Amino acid sequence: MPPHLPEFVDPLEFADKRRRLVGELPLAMFDRIQEFLSEKRGSVRIELEFGKDGRWSVVTGRVEGDLALQCQLCMEPLNLQVQLKVSLGVVGSLDEADRLPGAYEPLVFGGGVPMRLLDLVQDELVLAIPPIPQHSDCGSAVRAEPRQESKHRENPFAVLAQLKNND
Ligand SMILES: [Zn+2]
Repeated sequence: MPPHLPEFVDPLEFADKRRRLVGELPLAMFDRIQEFLSEKRGSVRIELEFGKDGRWSVVTGRVEGDLALQCQLCMEPLNLQVQLKVSLGVVGSLDEADRLPGAYEPLVFGGGVPMRLLDLVQDELVLAIPPIPQHSDCGSAVRAEPRQESKHRENPFAVLAQLKNND
């Protein structure tokens, strides 16, 4: 863990202290996304603010990074720019999550044992990765070209037809 980021966070305590975490976490540390990565170097930038919104403890900020995934159609690298907006409300249970203001996603934290900062960020990252990563134009690029070619061929015939009409 980089020295300026804590390994564990207590979201309630951090919110009381209005703590702000800024730094980078190496991609290699996120065990749940390793299977999707074709390139494991690089890091994820985080900017998280713990604070209060009314009676709620909240975590807001950003998670950003460039992930090198693998296209599941052509197996070539696929770059995914991740720019996530974090907006979490700390709840003790999922029942309580129903009462969260609309802007927040629930972060279930029972209190007591602090959670790993890595897990907090990883839960967000996992959501950003599509279930089957693929290039948006993969497979369709080959088929698109012949269509343009046939359009060009129409012109000579049109000219011929005009010449015949002039006879
Ligand atoms: Zn592809």
